[in-house]
Parts: sequence; C-alpha cells; structure tokens
Amino acid sequence: MTQPSTPTPPSTLVATDLDRTLIYSAAALALDDVPDAEAPRLLSVEAYRHRPQSFVTEAAAALFAELATHPGALLVPTTTRTREQYLRVRLPGPAPRYAICANGGHLLVDGATDEDWHARVRRALADDCAPLAEVAAHLRAAADPAWLLKERDAEGLFAYLVVERALMPDTWPKELADWAAPRGWTVSLQGRKLYAVPRPLTKSAAVAEVARRTGAGTVLAAGDSLLDTDLLLAADRGWRPGHGELAAAGWTAPHVTALAGQGIRCGEEILRALLGALAPR
Ligand SMILES: [Mg+2]
Repeated sequence: MTQPSTPTPPSTLVATDLDRTLIYSAAALALDDVPDAEAPRLLSVEAYRHRPQSFVTEAAAALFAELATHPGALLVPTTTRTREQYLRVRLPGPAPRYAICANGGHLLVDGATDEDWHARVRRALADDCAPLAEVAAHLRAAADPAWLLKERDAEGLFAYLVVERALMPDTWPKELADWAAPRGWTVSLQGRKLYAVPRPLTKSAAVAEVARRTGAGTVLAAGDSLLDTDLLLAADRGWRPGHGELAAAGWTAPHVTALAGQGIRCGEEILRALLGALAPR
C-alpha cells in the first residue's frame, strides 16, 4: 500500500527587503533618462492618505506574483517598516504566509505577530543596548530644526528621523553613528529617512527563525541599505541594486551580486535574478 503523499515544503526561503529593492516611491523611481513615451507602466502597491505612495513596474508585478506562487520558494518580505506600514502594502500575488517587520522585531504569521518571537527580541534588546528613550532624547537634542522634518518612534523598538537631505550636514550621520556605536546602536540613512536601530535588532535573526520553522535549506536575499547587510551576509546568495546606501558605499561580498541597474527598473532585475536562482518549477 502506498502512503498518501504530503506536499513537499518549499526548499528555498526568499527573504527580500521592500523599499528601494522591490517597491519604489515616486522620489526613488530614477526614470529621468527614459523618454516619456517609453516610460514603463507602473502599478501602485501602496496608498498613503489616499494617494499612491509606492510602485512596481507592470513587468515586476508579474515576476513578483510568479515568485510568490513558485512551489520551490517561500517568499518572505523582510522590511524595516512597522507592521502598520507593511500591512498597507498590497503586494502582487497571494498574501505571504510569513513577513518580517520592524527590522526583525515582529515576525508576522498570516498577518498576526508571533508573540514568542517578539518577547525574545525584547529580552535581547534589554540585555544588550541602551534604551530607546536615551537614543530618542539624543536625537531630539542633536538634530537641527532647520532640517529635521519629523521624529518617529517605530513600534517602541527603534527611532527614525525624516530629514531635509539638502540642509542636513553630510557629517551628521557619521557623528550620530559614532555616538550610537558604544551604546549598541547603528545608524542608516535611506533617502529622507535616518534610522537609529539597536544592533541586535536584525532582519537575519528573524529570517533564521523562519528557516528553522519551515525547514528551508537555502536562503536567497536582496536589499539596498546598511540594514540589509546582515541579511545579505547570512544568505546563501544575495543581490543588491546599483542605487542606495550599499551601492554608494561600494559594499560587496563574495556571494552577493552587485547589480548595475538603478531605480524601479532594478526591481525587475532583482526579481529575475531571484527566479533564475530557483530550481525550475
Ligand atoms: Mg530598502
């Protein structure tokens, strides 16, 4: 008698950053060299206050849906966005079973946070770094109202500022990073947002937890910012776009492909690379 067959779990976990990796705000499109008549059609995947906020190209939407339904892949959006910011993104294809928000602070399973994981993260932060209140107070005292537009607490886990880049001194993020490092915090500048994040709050730790739970043997990753370095380093293979914080720093690693593409068109390139690295269906 033959045993009833059980579906094989996806063998490859695809952990990818969202903003400026797969989805792009109007300011990050980088389509200035494209004649208007040849500009790619865009799909809005996020509305904010009743206005379209983030986009993918039409081609990227199809590739994304292909990746989200690939039988050999478990697609895990892995973002620094808060849960609220993530849940308003409407990615093409079926809703992912797992998603990582707040830079690893929240592991969503079918849209709800996993409380055990969150409690584990909170304990690690309490043990290893200065409290958020101390860092937030420093940010308020050190930032100049001439270029500080907003100051935000993200889920009580980390802080970010929205800044006027043209007015903020170039040396300021480095000075902040030097202050933050001995306190166990790290600093990342992405577009108009400057993040201060506790060093143990990582995307890679949450991805490792999803890999453990699902038994995925291989991890593919993509990301554009300093907050994606641990994710890219922990993966078996990674890709980063030709724009963003990592590209500007010339950051690379032997198993990470530095793509040349810039802006929203590179989102397509990343999706093609991820699909190409999977076993054919
Ligand atoms: Mg990003």
